[in-house]
Amino acid sequence: MPVYEYRCRKCGKEYEIRASMSEYAKGLKTVCPECGSEESERVISLAAILGGAPGGPSFGAGGCGGPSCCGGGN
Ligand SMILES: [Zn+2]
Repeated sequence: MPVYEYRCRKCGKEYEIRASMSEYAKGLKTVCPECGSEESERVISLAAILGGAPGGPSFGAGGCGGPSCCGGGN
């Protein structure tokens, strides 16, 4: 189940909401755990990008970019 991160517009508190894709599509009700405000904005976290992007940058996957990358000194 994906985690959606939000930041409260009133107090600046960042919080996470777990919801299924269908729940998210219907519209999440975001309530700040700190002040109870429903005024929030979506936060795109780095972890969400790294964890949820198939085909993203893959380091150490066996690809060699050039002579200097795997120490190709014969
Ligand atoms: Zn708040």
